[in-house]
Amino acid sequence: MPEPGPEEALVHISAAGVCHSDLHLVRGDWAGVGRTLPIGHEAIGVVTALGPGADRWVQVGDRVILGLGGTGGGYWCGTCEYCLSGRPRHCSQSKGIQGTFAEYFSVWAAGLVVLPDSIADSEASLACGGLTAFGAVRKLLDHHIEPGRPIAVIGAAGGLGHYAVQIATAFGYEVVGVDIGVDRLEFVKSLGAARSVGVEEAVEVVQREYGGVAASLVFSAKLAGFRLGLDLLRKGGLFVAVGLPATSEGNFQINPFEFFVKDPTMIYSAVGTVQDMRDLVALAAAGKVRSHVSRTGALSDLGTILDELEVSAYLGRAVITDLSH
Ligand SMILES: [Zn+2]
Ligand SMILES: [Zn+2]
Repeated sequence: MPEPGPEEALVHISAAGVCHSDLHLVRGDWAGVGRTLPIGHEAIGVVTALGPGADRWVQVGDRVILGLGGTGGGYWCGTCEYCLSGRPRHCSQSKGIQGTFAEYFSVWAAGLVVLPDSIADSEASLACGGLTAFGAVRKLLDHHIEPGRPIAVIGAAGGLGHYAVQIATAFGYEVVGVDIGVDRLEFVKSLGAARSVGVEEAVEVVQREYGGVAASLVFSAKLAGFRLGLDLLRKGGLFVAVGLPATSEGNFQINPFEFFVKDPTMIYSAVGTVQDMRDLVALAAAGKVRSHVSRTGALSDLGTILDELEVSAYLGRAVITDLSH
């Protein structure tokens, strides 16, 4: 049983989402990241105790979502150049949330967002999957890609992509969802995408219909998805990388002449801020975003679930709904 420290809340976890990042961590896919970290970083639970000063943020009995908001959520300083410019992920004092595959988790209370009753425990994956998608879509506005413009979501049926399709549609973008296979493409259409298209015909369709998209959001954890994102882009478009392929996949390359001709703006987007999480919770409460949960299980099923995730056995997300065994 963790003891909540200063400004921390102890949360009894009701449901914890399984993220592709957990799989990457378990498999040791990312160079320089050890395999000894505790895993699990998306959860919904109830506050059961408060450390000194935490009552500024939450109260005992509050039902909360543990977002990665502000890298983070584990802590960020709030006063450095990155925090003050809305990029707390780069704060040198930021601490992530790791270890929510547990019955209790103690967490910096400022990173918590209180949930309305209308949002079910099965929405736990909003904490990272939903927030990461929201943060990426919001960057379209930061880069002056106006609602109404065509944008591509690559990996649109996946754990992150299925959120991005709903969120970008709610923002008013013309969403072209790109994925593989009839079932997945039908699913993407059901999420509200203006168009869903397979990877093989994506370039031809997008160039013919739109002359290229104004932005590509790449959620694929494969390097091929990055290449496709660039190929779909019109001149001067915005490339938003979100997926994080295994280091062994090698480098994403762009020829300097292609860079000159296409002149893309290329950025990376990871997680979001606590304000993004508040906005996302409001969208979910309004019924505009829902987690597609294809698999639930107990904590003891986690190994099997990670194996299933590795072979993309299902659409959307998996959620641990029983943390007690
Ligand atoms: Zn900071
Ligand atoms: Zn995650």
